[in-house]
Amino acid sequence: MRQIAIYGKGGIGKSTTTQNLTAALSTMGNKILLVGCDPKADSTRMLLGGLNQKTVLDTLRSEGDEGVDLETVLQPGFGGIKCVESGGPEPGVGCAGRGIITSIGLLENLGAYTEDLDYVFYDVLGDVVCGGFAMPIREGKAKEIYIVASGELMAIYAANNICKGLAKFAKGGARLGGIICNSRKVDGERELLEAFAKKLGSHLIHFVPRDNIVQRAEINRKTVIDFDPESDQAKEYLTLAENVQNNTKLVVPTPLPMEELEAMMVEFGIVEI
Ligand code: ATP
Ligand code: MG
Repeated sequence: MRQIAIYGKGGIGKSTTTQNLTAALSTMGNKILLVGCDPKADSTRMLLGGLNQKTVLDTLRSEGDEGVDLETVLQPGFGGIKCVESGGPEPGVGCAGRGIITSIGLLENLGAYTEDLDYVFYDVLGDVVCGGFAMPIREGKAKEIYIVASGELMAIYAANNICKGLAKFAKGGARLGGIICNSRKVDGERELLEAFAKKLGSHLIHFVPRDNIVQRAEINRKTVIDFDPESDQAKEYLTLAENVQNNTKLVVPTPLPMEELEAMMVEFGIVEI
């Protein structure tokens, strides 16, 4: 069972990419558990056709420890993907990161991590600057990390920070599997991301183009894999899935000093000075 966490800057496309990636992996015959680790609880929406399922933490609050069962918090979605939303703490109270670990612990106790699973995916909010969101890495739950980034400076800056967190908690066994470029149509984006990934000691696992079919599928509450399996974008997600499936390059990343990061942006002509 491979346990994979998807990180990246806010709004970069983690949830979209994770749902399309898991949908693609499911069509390749894989059994998957997807745990949304975002208080927004929107990590499984397109796999469940918009079904608004009860989160683990909400159920825990309303029903207590004894009242939580898998039937309530785990719903089968597209391709039989088992979908769970961790949910969040009461707004303004408690630590969301702690909540994630509470949820994972509970799922373990309830027997959600069955032997037949090929993958467990975690769609994690935040860029590890807050220690709470590093929990799946720190606690050694997810051993394989992919970072979604684009050619925009802040996306690369966040990816670099995530790598700092990852390097720090490498003792727990977590490794970087690669960078996923979710394109923002920035000039020289692919080359920049390839160079950045290489400097980290890693590689670009796939370049996912920006395409409005993602929005059309989203409004229909579907992944692109489900909405239009023959489309070019669906093929891109299938290639991403194949690349993840075949990936054996797992490294402790070597994050870049800020000056080097900025110099790289200039070198690739993204930022002019
Ligand atoms: P958050 O940090 O808030 O959880 P996120 O990283 O999970 O955000 P998403 O919600 O997946 O980001 O994506 C934000 C928006 O970007 C989505 O509404 C989606 O429509 C759009 N999007 C993501 N990837 C693509 C793509 N390849 N092409 C076109 N649109 C995309
Ligand atoms: Mg998200």
